[in-house]
Amino acid sequence: MSAGLRINNIEVIYDHVILVLKGVSLEVPTGKIVALLGANGAGKSTTLKAISNLLSAERGDVTKGSIEYNDERVDKLTPNDLVKRGVIQVMEGRHCFAHLSIEDNLLTGAYTRNISSADTRLELEKIYTYFPRLKIRRKSQAGYTSGGEQQMTAIGRAMMAKPSMILLDEPSMGLAPQIVEEIFEIVKGLNSRENVSFLLAEQNTSVALRYADFGYILENGRVVMEGAASDLATNEDVKEFYLGVS
Ligand code: ATP
Repeated sequence: MSAGLRINNIEVIYDHVILVLKGVSLEVPTGKIVALLGANGAGKSTTLKAISNLLSAERGDVTKGSIEYNDERVDKLTPNDLVKRGVIQVMEGRHCFAHLSIEDNLLTGAYTRNISSADTRLELEKIYTYFPRLKIRRKSQAGYTSGGEQQMTAIGRAMMAKPSMILLDEPSMGLAPQIVEEIFEIVKGLNSRENVSFLLAEQNTSVALRYADFGYILENGRVVMEGAASDLATNEDVKEFYLGVS
């Protein structure tokens, strides 16, 4: 038994017939950054949604296997109860409240916590130290900010819930390389200084393997390779099929 997230042999079916995850097992030990890699459609988002119990909205079901967090079964928890246990998902596409300011978006992240407004302010100031850009832009309506700022807002809002683990879906999507690098640096900072573990689903294999400790590669709903990120980055098959070098 080990602390952290453990997924044992899960199977996911959409619409009662479409088998999408065919027995996926993976672990995210406490304090680590783990990358879930694979091409478009491999099953990365489905894996994250299975953990957060967000599949039912899409007519998906976990039909086999189990999910544990810190040695307790969490498969039947609602997304909100999972947040209370410390696990929060940042969805692909960021999902900010477009009509709210960046600061109000961040404040909504604290709603599951029973803390005073003074403590919420302190928490907010701490979050701003990781995201100085958001502090400058705090009064801007989120819908009018850049893709990078929206991604930062989504991660910052998740941090306001004081999670021990963040499930981060495709943080690099649609962003310029320099902004992607900035976001991964922030993730690394949150991991090392706030001890937040990350499971990040990414198609950008190269950047994910530079920041992660460990990686899993999904193909067609199955884990086909796993290992230390540094080993995967130098593996010939990974280089050829996922890093575009051979
Ligand atoms: P992407 O990067 O495009 O999000 P992914 O690796 O995250 O890819 P998933 O989104 O998990 O992949 O999709 C895995 C498979 O499940 C795909 O074949 C997709 O078409 C299918 N799928 C996803 N959502 C549904 C759904 N709601 N109903 C039916 N099939 C779905």
